[in-house]
Amino acid sequence: METFVWDDNFVTGLSEVDRQHHGLVDLFNELNESLFHGSDTSAETLEGIFDRLLAYAAKHFADEEALMHQVGLDLRHIDTHHQMHQQFVDQVRGMWASRHTLRQPSETIMGFLTSWLGLHILGIDQAMARQITAMQAGQTAQEAFEHEARHNNQGTQALLKMVGNLYHVLAQQNTDLVAANAGLEQRVQERTQALALANDELQAANRQLQAFSRTDGLLRIHNRAYFDERLLEEMARARRLKQPLGLLMMDVDFFKRYNDTYGHQAGDVCLQSVARAVGSVVKRRTDFLARYGGEELVALLPNTDGPGAMLVAQRVIAAVQAMGLPHAKSDAAAVVTLSVGVASAVPALGDDAQAGAALLAEADAALYQAKHQGRNRPVLGAAAADALAAVQS
Ligand code: GH3
Ligand code: MG
Ligand code: MG
Repeated sequence: METFVWDDNFVTGLSEVDRQHHGLVDLFNELNESLFHGSDTSAETLEGIFDRLLAYAAKHFADEEALMHQVGLDLRHIDTHHQMHQQFVDQVRGMWASRHTLRQPSETIMGFLTSWLGLHILGIDQAMARQITAMQAGQTAQEAFEHEARHNNQGTQALLKMVGNLYHVLAQQNTDLVAANAGLEQRVQERTQALALANDELQAANRQLQAFSRTDGLLRIHNRAYFDERLLEEMARARRLKQPLGLLMMDVDFFKRYNDTYGHQAGDVCLQSVARAVGSVVKRRTDFLARYGGEELVALLPNTDGPGAMLVAQRVIAAVQAMGLPHAKSDAAAVVTLSVGVASAVPALGDDAQAGAALLAEADAALYQAKHQGRNRPVLGAAAADALAAVQS
């Protein structure tokens, strides 16, 4: 990048003005040097040079405008001149602030600074100097202004004005581009947010769907499919932790007769009440209750041995009986009752699915025993009872 090269055409003859123009050029060149040759110039240093440059320019403009007022130049000139100064400050500030969005920021900024100063001095500053000279020679401010407008190098003035406008348009386009970029960023952000929201909703829907697929529609407890899944998991966990896994198989007594007596709909309501009563007992955080099928419920009781599982079974039976739902055709009691098959085992190394099936079979056999012994009672499975006897002897 070429630095600003000074030549005699830039001399206005106003010594303080010329001195300050030199000062500006020096700062331009310092900035130029840092932008293009100071490979390790920190952002802070660059900001420092730029701030000094802007401050110097502002001081120079103020001095120049004070001089014009002091001499008494025609206000039409002073106004235009002031506007140009203001435009420069605004444009340079905007360009600097948004320089990261420019393709060639250093070239663009230095190009603008040097071209603007050149055009400004050759144009309006020289016009100012000529009017001051004319007034010193005796013309009024108005005469000097109008003479300048009529006679002085109309072609150059037009060209300067045109190029100045061109810069103005370029700067404006740059500002628009920056605004457009910001708008685009915001839209991307909005889209991202909307996407995240949709994703959350999808996940919530999936969770709901999963919960739905694991729940029994009538009893509002877990269903058989989810029980099968959990039985395997709990088996594996119990095996790893060497803890007993308890299991209750529950079946409503004489439920066929209940349906026959009170109707199928009343049977449904009865089953819902039974599930609620059982749920009020099987309620440890790790306990798991499901509908096994028909009027049969099943409960998994992690870290619960045979006696522990028997205790839970007794509470379940008591809770169901305590509801006091009349069952006129039951041979077991005057109210709805349950029979419970109880099993518990510490899983040995081996196939968890097989161990799960064995635990279920044991509970099922115990349930059959409970039915056989008169219903409305729990029976502990044979294997669990053997294990208990071994411990006690
Ligand atoms: P036991 O004491 O030996 O268990 O006799 P039970 O009549 O309960 O045994 P069984 O298995 O023969 O009958 C179960 C009945 O439960 C048969 C079926 O109509 C009824 N049942 C199964 N599921 C439902 C249900 O969702 N709603 C209703 N209302 N009845 C059901
Ligand atoms: Mg049954
Ligand atoms: Mg039954």
